[in-house]
Amino acid sequence: MAGLRGIEALRRDGFDGRITLVGDEPHLPYDRPPLSKQFLAGARTENELALRRGPWEELDLELLTGARAARLHATTRELELEGGKRLSWDGLLIATGSVARHLPGTEGLAGVHVLRTLDDALSLRDALAPGPRVLVVGAGFIGAEVAATCRERGLDVVMVEPLATPMQRVLGKAVGALAAAVHRDQGVDLRCGVGVEALEGEGRVERARLSDGSVVEADLVVVGIGARPATDWLEGSGLEIADGVVCDATCATSLPGISAAGDVARWPHPLFGESLRVEHWTNAIEMGEAAARRLLLAADEAPPFAPVPYVWTDQYDRKLQIAGLVREGDEMALVQGSLEERRFVAIFGRGGRLTGVLAMNRPAGLIRLKSRIAEGASFDEVARAD
Ligand SMILES: Cc1cc2nc3c(=O)[nH]c(=O)nc-3n(C[C@H](O)[C@H](O)[C@H](O)COP(=O)(O)OP(=O)(O)OC[C@H]3O[C@@H](n4cnc5c(N)ncnc54)[C@H](O)[C@@H]3O)c2cc1C
Repeated sequence: MAGLRGIEALRRDGFDGRITLVGDEPHLPYDRPPLSKQFLAGARTENELALRRGPWEELDLELLTGARAARLHATTRELELEGGKRLSWDGLLIATGSVARHLPGTEGLAGVHVLRTLDDALSLRDALAPGPRVLVVGAGFIGAEVAATCRERGLDVVMVEPLATPMQRVLGKAVGALAAAVHRDQGVDLRCGVGVEALEGEGRVERARLSDGSVVEADLVVVGIGARPATDWLEGSGLEIADGVVCDATCATSLPGISAAGDVARWPHPLFGESLRVEHWTNAIEMGEAAARRLLLAADEAPPFAPVPYVWTDQYDRKLQIAGLVREGDEMALVQGSLEERRFVAIFGRGGRLTGVLAMNRPAGLIRLKSRIAEGASFDEVARAD
């Protein structure tokens, strides 16, 4: 995603040098958000996931699919692919995304799925066809979306979450509690405050033992316990890595001629004054473009990358959208609608500043307030005005 959007930006800008796009998946670049939503529901086909809208020829690039970058040789400016082939470069954009975390000890147990790639989604969609009893481990964005899609397919779903509410880290407790109510109303057996101790079965998963001593019988388990940045291949490269590829405020890494973008990259965000790694679709586009352009600029010409992060999630008939950062412990005020209606806009703040806006089925309110975050507006002022 970030890689392709970066290339498209360079070509739009008129860059006419050689470009190679290397990706380890066998598919052409595709869109991930529908994998847990419309694609899993059977409402969107593989062709409809294509990320490239225009003709590929227009990009005039060498496209290497099924090609894994194995090692980075920064001093000789070469990228070594699995199998030994080396590609030389003048500028390198690292956009290897993130990798789904697995539950330790479940390797080799059939019926246990993660959801990151198209192949994961194809395998999960097939496995849902016979109508299994589904256990979702982790009620983050991906787990909660999978639970919603499975309920819409009429499946029995248990969802287990160690925190007190679903998506708590990104929604806070009050909206998290509302999300719990939405899922329960839709028939999900949601168990919060418990973890999975073990998945058991003879070769194939049959049940889960939970930390509260209870047992959940399940035919299929979807593990949605987060992702880690795909940096394994960069070990020993000399590049600074710390839960992601470390960049400066302009998306440049610690080594010359290399920038990074998307889920894999971490950078000091000028607006929030902290180092962020953002696993959102919009960030992959915006940072991909900024990081690709950075390769052609001198350090003093490059603008800081300072977008207001944005993410959405669709679950049942609810669309949740978040601009900026929303975290547990933030100040919160409702500025439109109400939690009871399940249609509202809430603002969040830290240190007196507006830092986040969250909307449920109220997109217009969110768009209007998003720019106030970038302006550094005071939380109280926005709360009073709205
Ligand atoms: C199921 C799902 C649903 C989502 N829904 C939403 C949503 O509703 N809203 C939202 O904002 N975000 C959503 N996201 C997140 C969003 O899709 C990601 O933030 C975005 O795809 C990140 O783009 P990226 O380019 O950084 O990484 P990716 O899209 O992951 O692309 C990285 C590519 O690099 C490849 N790669 C990794 N290592 C190597 C290597 N060594 N050599 C070669 N290639 C390699 C990977 O296989 C992958 O193809 C969702 C993600 C998933 C998985």
